[in-house]
Amino acid sequence: MVTGDSPAISKILHLTGHNSYSPCRFCTIKGTPFQKKYKVKDRDVERLKTTYYYPLTHPTDVPAEHRISEAHHTYDPLNLPRRTNTGFIADATDAENDDTGRVAKDTGIKSRSILCRIPSIRFPYSFPIDVMHLIYLRLTRDLVALLNGSYFESGASKMRNCEPAYCLQEKVWRKIGKEMGSARIPTGYGRQTRNIDKYMKSFKSEECATFLHNLSLHLLRNRVSNDVYSMFMKLVLGISLAINYVILDTDEIRLLLKDFVLDFYRIFYRQEYKMLRVCKYTIHSVLHIADCLDWWGSAANF
Ligand SMILES: [Zn+2]
Repeated sequence: MVTGDSPAISKILHLTGHNSYSPCRFCTIKGTPFQKKYKVKDRDVERLKTTYYYPLTHPTDVPAEHRISEAHHTYDPLNLPRRTNTGFIADATDAENDDTGRVAKDTGIKSRSILCRIPSIRFPYSFPIDVMHLIYLRLTRDLVALLNGSYFESGASKMRNCEPAYCLQEKVWRKIGKEMGSARIPTGYGRQTRNIDKYMKSFKSEECATFLHNLSLHLLRNRVSNDVYSMFMKLVLGISLAINYVILDTDEIRLLLKDFVLDFYRIFYRQEYKMLRVCKYTIHSVLHIADCLDWWGSAANF
């Protein structure tokens, strides 16, 4: 078994990366392009930069000037086009023999990893999702940023771009931070909690986990819409079951996490082009956690 965060796994598997057109080591989902204007440094010139995001269905309102001809499929969250060990190695070999780079872009694999020489390694089964990085350090932070309005302003602590449908009022978020900072929990549950409003950027994975598993449902109750609260419940229950030392039913976890992802897309993305940026590889990866449980047992193992 080889574990790590997405950039580390991409490097070791010679993948094009978790922001590329074909980002996933588990399936062959293709990214939807999003074009953003940026200014060239020290020059009064604007250029377009293309970034890929990974919704299950494409936006319904792509602006005419940003329309890109690359085909995008509609994906079934319970029946994603999975990679196999044989297919993975064949794609890597094809990419090595292709000088144009098209195979690498299309398959997401640039060449064969040195790990191909180890017979017991299977692609992608030997590379399960690291829940600490994916759920606690990435997804929990993204969810918090969406709720407090800082998602689209990296580094901002002020309330910005609030969407009334799901964003918390600033005073409510401040109050949640204070309540979390003053909460007293038994030391067996981890370190003393800190104010999430003030210190989220420096939260360790343990603190993100404590927030998600032990505090989020209490702190958000009657403060977010029923839709958002229901979405959180599915995530908290699904991940709590996934990290349990005894896994009784991976299908129950699969359905819970699938429903969480669909709720996430419905609430935050809404098939709107401008909201594509919430559809990172992080949220797509959640759909593969149950597969990793099938292969390796409890997520506490990897
Ligand atoms: Zn995938």
